[in-house]
Parts: sequence; structure tokens; C-alpha cells
Amino acid sequence: MIHNFNAGPSILPKEVFEQSAQAVLNYNNSGLSILEMGHRTPEFTEIMEEARGLVRELMHLDNDHQVLFLHGGASTQFMQVPMNLLDPKDTAAYADTGVWSSKAIKEAKLFGKIDVVCSSKEKNYSFIPNDFAVPNDAKYFHITTNNTIYGTQWQSIPKTSNVLIADMSSDILSRELNFNDFGLIYAGAQKNMGPAGVNLLVVNQNILGKVKHPIPTIMDYRNHIAEGSMLNTPPVFAVYVCLLTLRWLKAQGGVAAIEKLNQQKAALLYNEIDANELFTTNVVKEDRSKMNVCFVMKDPALEKPFYDYVKSNGVIGIKGHRLSGGFRASLYNALPISSVSYLVELMREFQQSHV
Ligand SMILES: *Cc1c(COP(=O)(O)O)cnc(C)c1O
Repeated sequence: MIHNFNAGPSILPKEVFEQSAQAVLNYNNSGLSILEMGHRTPEFTEIMEEARGLVRELMHLDNDHQVLFLHGGASTQFMQVPMNLLDPKDTAAYADTGVWSSKAIKEAKLFGKIDVVCSSKEKNYSFIPNDFAVPNDAKYFHITTNNTIYGTQWQSIPKTSNVLIADMSSDILSRELNFNDFGLIYAGAQKNMGPAGVNLLVVNQNILGKVKHPIPTIMDYRNHIAEGSMLNTPPVFAVYVCLLTLRWLKAQGGVAAIEKLNQQKAALLYNEIDANELFTTNVVKEDRSKMNVCFVMKDPALEKPFYDYVKSNGVIGIKGHRLSGGFRASLYNALPISSVSYLVELMREFQQSHV
């Protein structure tokens, strides 16, 4: 039995893998593989509409908020967001809370003036800043709600009168938030809602159409909205797998139900990190991520033996990112709580044989 703690691409529900495999062979008894069907067919149009509708339902979105499935990773949104919202003389505010935020900042600088209103870089991104102000004239304020590499998460979303924009790649659909408060939300699907190759985008249509510069057709969100997320050939298979994952999430009871489970999973692991003499974490307690749990060993010499021990027992993907070191256990929606208890058990056994 494998326990998959990969950071992304990452675990999805087993039934999603089974249903997608079946659809590759014979979609809904049509005699065709989903990979060989036209995207303008009634079959695929239904898939796209159901997927967009489920996102709307699960996130409780109002009618101003539009749901799109776009090509590319979240990194494409680092430039597509400012391309749609910023003119060269405009300012946008960014919070720098990790590698992904700083990459978003770098791309945004190509389009306008960027004001980095807070940063936790000096403390190796081990916390979420809470003492900062966003200038009133900033066209938008961009945050990364969960910092996948350093294991920090905004527990509450900052109140601001500016348009709020969030990269939610690694905690999308993991907890209830008032999603209508956001002007724009984007997420690469491969962490918590599907396979690699597609972005979820939720945008309040009222923030669009305000820049003076031309936007290339395929980059302009308005064109995607007008065409129902079918401006060109969508990543059909990736959208289909997202749909299956969304159906699964709804059947679990939706975001509120999965949030409860996610809280239990995170509490189980952090409690062990705090209690076990061999482990600790560099992340500030109130900013700990419920999705990516980063931890280290007090004695770094034990890291390799611990890694080898859990690996030989079927635990996959807990090596920390090369920038933060140590370990990272990703506890995405599809990871069962039994995998977390199993890891905790191995941590206890390892403690018993090493103190
Ligand atoms: C993984 C990740 C990205 C990058 O996603 P790609 O799809 O590889 O471009 C961006 N932001 C966050 C928060 C991530 O976790």
C-alpha cells in the first residue's frame, strides 16, 4: 500500500483514476475514447458546462463571477493577470510570501509598477506578514493564499478595498472562504483539483476591460468568457478529470465537509511534530499550512535514515523542497486521514528506536 504525500502533481481520488481510465478506452459507451472526441460535440460541451457549474456551486459564486478552464500552469497567470488588469502607469500591490509570489511579482513588473507591500523573505518565508498597508490607488492586491514550498497559509484573508487577487493553486477548494470577495482567483489544477495542464480561473467580470493597451486575443479573459471557456480547443482530458474530481468533492459534502477533514488531518500531523522529540518545524504556529506540512529533524543527521525508513514502508513524496529542506507532507483533499495516521505511527516508531 502506497501513501502518496506528493506536492503536485499529487494524489486524486482512486475512483477518479478508474473513471478517467475508462473514459480513455470508451467514453460513456459511445465507442469513442474521450481523447478522440471533438471539443464542440454535445458530449464535451456538457462536460465543460457541468465542470464550470460545479465550481460555481461548490464556491457559492454570484453571477458576476465567471468560471474558466484555461491552458497552462499557474505560471501563465503570473503574466496573464497583469496583462488584463494593468497599464504601464498603474500600480499593483503584491504580498511576497514565497517562491510563487516572487515569481508572480517578477512577471507583473513587465506590465506596470509593482509595490511589494510586505515580505517574509528575510525569515526564509516562515510566516505570513500581518503589518502592512495597501495603497488606495493600487489597481489590485495579489496574495498567494497557501505557500506550497514553505508551508505557510493565510488563515484569514486580509480585508482590503482594493480588488483582491489570489493564487490558490495549492489550497483551492480545501476550505470555505467568501470567494465572491475576490476579484480574481487562479489555480493550477494539479495540486488539489485535477491533473496538470489546466488552470481554474474565477473572475469578477466587472474588473475587466479597463486597460488601454491591446491584449492578444487568446490572453484576453473577456474572449474566454464570451465563448464559454471554449475560445479554442480546451485541454479536454484535463477538464474531464477535473469534472470527476469536482463530482467526488460534491459527494463528500462539498468544501465545508472536506475542510473539517483537512483540519483533522493537519492537527494530527502537527500534534505529532510538536510532541515528538525528534521533530520540529520552522513555520510560525499561527501561519501553519493545512495543505503542505513542512517539518525538519532536530538532528539533521537523522533526516536520511528517517526518509529511508518511511520510504521502505510505502510513504511517498515527503522530501522537502530543495529551497526549504527537511520534509513536506502534502495533505490535499484526496489524501485519506488513514495515510496521515500511518505517517504519525512511523514517526513514533522511529522516535522509539532513536532516543
Ligand atoms: C505549483 C504552484 C504554482 C506553479 O504552478 P505551475 O502550474 O507549475 O505553473 C504557482 N503557484 C503556487 C501557489 C503553486 O503551488
